[in-house]
Amino acid sequence: MNNIVYRLDKSLYINLTNRCTNKCCFCIRDISDGVGGYNLWLDREPTVKEVIEAIGDPTAYDQVVFCGYGEPMTRLEELLEISKYLKDRGAKVRVNTNGQANLIHGYNVVPRLAGLVDVISVSLNACSAEEYHRICDSDFGLEAYKGVVDFIKECKKYIKRVVVSVVNVLPHESIKRCRQIADDLGVEFRIRYYYR
Ligand code: SF4
Repeated sequence: MNNIVYRLDKSLYINLTNRCTNKCCFCIRDISDGVGGYNLWLDREPTVKEVIEAIGDPTAYDQVVFCGYGEPMTRLEELLEISKYLKDRGAKVRVNTNGQANLIHGYNVVPRLAGLVDVISVSLNACSAEEYHRICDSDFGLEAYKGVVDFIKECKKYIKRVVVSVVNVLPHESIKRCRQIADDLGVEFRIRYYYR
């Protein structure tokens, strides 16, 4: 089986899926087979049991991150089951997401993350629905952006630490407006650096 978990610095990353509802113009998957020397294309999606076995001792890491080479929340049930396993063993859990889980599953999934996820990092990447559509080309079209913003608002109610991120390929003005959106939502803001 491929790299269903991989270590970067003091964090362990879980690669649950290669599926994603976006086709971002800056997606690393278009130019690379993985990160940190790990090939992250999966032959098939791992089971919960396979992921747990691959994790080993979760307390050996500063945090365990659902990230992957795709959108981890497409596999919501598996993510919740693994998070429960991790929290029961005292691990810190982070999810990196495109923020479309409520659109994907058709209901507000965020309350189910309460107590299971310590940090959620949501990629915002645009300051309007049109810009988001142009940059991220979501399966949900122009509806996607509002869905992501609503998701962030819900996260704030249930998750201790919420971080909104943008990639540095955006125009300066867009980044400024995204920072303002994050401030208005009362969440952290982070610029991720992208090198092509
Ligand atoms: S949300 Fe992430 S995995 Fe999906 S296309 Fe965008 S950069 Fe790639």
